[in-house]
Amino acid sequence: MIDQCRLCGGGNLRQWMLDGRNRDLVYYKCADCSLWNYDLDCGVDQTQYTETYVSPEDTGHKFNVGIRQSWEFLRKYAPVPGSIMDIGCGSACLLYLARKEGWRVRGMELTQQAADDIREDQGIDVIVANFLEYDNPDAELYDVVVLRHVLEHLPDSILAMQNIGRLLKDDGLALLEFPNTRSYSYAVKRILKNRGLRNKKFSADWRPGHCNEFCRESFEYLLARTGFELVIWRTYSSKPFANVFYRYVPIASKARALVRKKATAA
Ligand SMILES: [Zn+2]
Repeated sequence: MIDQCRLCGGGNLRQWMLDGRNRDLVYYKCADCSLWNYDLDCGVDQTQYTETYVSPEDTGHKFNVGIRQSWEFLRKYAPVPGSIMDIGCGSACLLYLARKEGWRVRGMELTQQAADDIREDQGIDVIVANFLEYDNPDAELYDVVVLRHVLEHLPDSILAMQNIGRLLKDDGLALLEFPNTRSYSYAVKRILKNRGLRNKKFSADWRPGHCNEFCRESFEYLLARTGFELVIWRTYSSKPFANVFYRYVPIASKARALVRKKATAA
């Protein structure tokens, strides 16, 4: 049970979606800021996302296809090579692409194994840390910070954005990608799950990895609280063809946001 929104602190939470095999995982939507708060009392499981290393030269791999789209987007708005930090960099494909164009690159991953695989294959420096606990001991500042499908896994979104701010130069850019709750597929998912459909595919002890999920409104609220401004908001799917449509009607299942750290932020 949650009685306070983890983003705005308000108590105006509505039971919004039931998930899990026994429909015992409750998601609450905040009526004030629109954040979807997952009830974390049931526990979360981040181990289900553990990836094996995929070479960035495997251009057909689905992970790398998605990352190439992120990089194509980012390089349009950050055309001058500088320094970049990718939080939860996976197999470092985005850093591989950035380095080819002259960027100084560094990543962060949760496991030593992931960092070792990347260093061994590509010679890229990867910090092993939990981002919410990382206090930037060498006070390195970057031009760009990237979090692809990381924000929704972090219980404290405000601390996450503050930590991004501490890694960025003034006016530095951050690219964030995460699920978009105000999407067509989430609307359908909610109807089905609240009727007990689509829940049986999970084992009884399945636990989600997500803690909080955003739409544009809740994300902009988060930015305003943490000293950032929204530069671009897009929604996208894995089908490039459909993305032409989603550019005008932003209801795709995933969001891609470019944000700027305000120079006045602490
Ligand atoms: Zn709220």
